[in-house]
Amino acid sequence: MLAVSKTKPINDIIAAYDAGQRQFGENYVQEGETKITTLATDYPDIEWHFIGPLQSNKTRIVAEHFDWMHTVSRDKIAQRLNDQRPNNKKPLNVCIQVNISQEDSKSGVDANQVAMLALTINQLPNLRLRGLMAIPTATADTQLQQQEFANLKTLFDQLQQQYPSIDTLSMGMSGDMDIAIANGSTMVRIGSAIFGER
Ligand SMILES: *Cc1c(COP(=O)(O)O)cnc(C)c1O
Repeated sequence: MLAVSKTKPINDIIAAYDAGQRQFGENYVQEGETKITTLATDYPDIEWHFIGPLQSNKTRIVAEHFDWMHTVSRDKIAQRLNDQRPNNKKPLNVCIQVNISQEDSKSGVDANQVAMLALTINQLPNLRLRGLMAIPTATADTQLQQQEFANLKTLFDQLQQQYPSIDTLSMGMSGDMDIAIANGSTMVRIGSAIFGER
């Protein structure tokens, strides 16, 4: 479980840490950087995941501070993260964000572009391809969400046969985690159900 602490204060993160949580997700580069540097000395075993949209002029902050990046959807972003990853850090763990939703506005690559992007990422030495991430259509239609999660799981299984480093299917949030887990999620990203409404 990834605890999504975006917009929440440092003290909330420390409370979750004291309860045993070690993996935290942030959506905004600046806010994430501030939290990571503030907590670095006293909480060195926190693993930080970037899960928001990322513009190419902000990649350096993610490359220098985060352990994971869930929303890679372009070659250019992958290349920049690789080039900007400091030599003294382990490779950045990367998930490809896939557009499984019926909504045009959702970000991520189309399912038929995943193989090409995976090939690119797999060749970059400072990135480690770990899996796929998606946000389903925001709807009360649970059957539609179930179908979207199932589609992503199929894609995940295919990709895993090609790339043994792949072990992470990042899907499910506070409102749909049950459906996501039933469809093979290995990492749910939970914000409001832990920290309260934003
Ligand atoms: C905010 C956010 C979450 C957490 O959402 P909740 O509904 O609060 O659990 C998960 N994933 C992404 C990508 C988010 O932006």
